Amino acid sequence: MSSVLLEVQDVCKRYGEREALSGVSLSVQKGQTLGLLGPNGAGKSTLVSAICGLIRIDRGNIALHYSEAGAKNADSKKYIGLVPQDLALFEDLSANENLSLFGGLYGLSGKDLQTRIQSALELVSLADRAKDKPSDFSGGMKRRLNIAAAMLHDPELLILDEPTVGVDPQSRNAIFDALEVLKARGKSLIYTSHYMEEVERLADHLVIIDHGKVIANSSPAELYQRLPAQAALNFELAQALAPEQKNALLAMPGVMALELASSACTGALRLQDQDHAFACLQYLQQQGHQLLYFATAKAKLEEVFLTLTGRSLRD
Ligand code: ADP
Repeated sequence: MSSVLLEVQDVCKRYGEREALSGVSLSVQKGQTLGLLGPNGAGKSTLVSAICGLIRIDRGNIALHYSEAGAKNADSKKYIGLVPQDLALFEDLSANENLSLFGGLYGLSGKDLQTRIQSALELVSLADRAKDKPSDFSGGMKRRLNIAAAMLHDPELLILDEPTVGVDPQSRNAIFDALEVLKARGKSLIYTSHYMEEVERLADHLVIIDHGKVIANSSPAELYQRLPAQAALNFELAQALAPEQKNALLAMPGVMALELASSACTGALRLQDQDHAFACLQYLQQQGHQLLYFATAKAKLEEVFLTLTGRSLRD
């Protein structure tokens, strides 16, 4: 049996002249966390709305493969929990009352609803604020309450559209903790963001979209492989690096580039991988250089976007 939960095939969506999605295909496996990355305006929210059936697509197909026998396409909302970018909460109702209202919309009631509310509030670390109103909450707490609301009906797929925008560090951590718990429970997640490091923390698989097109669709490890330089050796020398020493370093195996400050004492060697750092350090010592500082660093996955598009993810 296939373990694919969601299949998006060749989806196109136009807003007037603007093509927001042009031939997007991706799939989400059961239990998988998909990081959907792209700069502002790439088409992430449009894709999320299309998956949730909130907008009509012009072309393509979106299919949710339910584990429950007999479920129909029209039931898709039952299997998806959406945490939208725009917060949908009633400021004058308590957290508990907000969740009762959302639960009611999903046909939940009575003791079952109360049990689910309690466990959803615990999941997002708001159990002690059940009686408080969102008007007294920080932006991050409101977002956590939104996540709780989206989980009440126990959906198989939770979609979070930029869940950490405008969120304080404490809530950010609470959100990550909650998502880790959901992952461990075997839920499938789609997490959209324009922060690579956030997505990297959670995602098993990454899809990068730009101008409505998929430009990468692979595991984080495979994406790293696409980086020409996967590591850096940052250094500071007591004396300036001579031009011939610079050329010798650049000719060494695995050295992709050398960025040198105007003093020629401080710099960074871009390396294919960290294993090449040792030979570079040895060379500098053989040349009589005194190293005041050195450290290796792994390249950031964020640089993949730069490599693929020539632009930074947050331009
Ligand atoms: P993202 O979520 O990646 O920031 P969006 O899906 O919101 O991107 O937007 C993709 C493109 O579609 C953008 O160029 C945006 O201006 C346009 N767009 C989104 N929604 C609408 C709309 N309702 N009407 C017209 N254009 C829209």
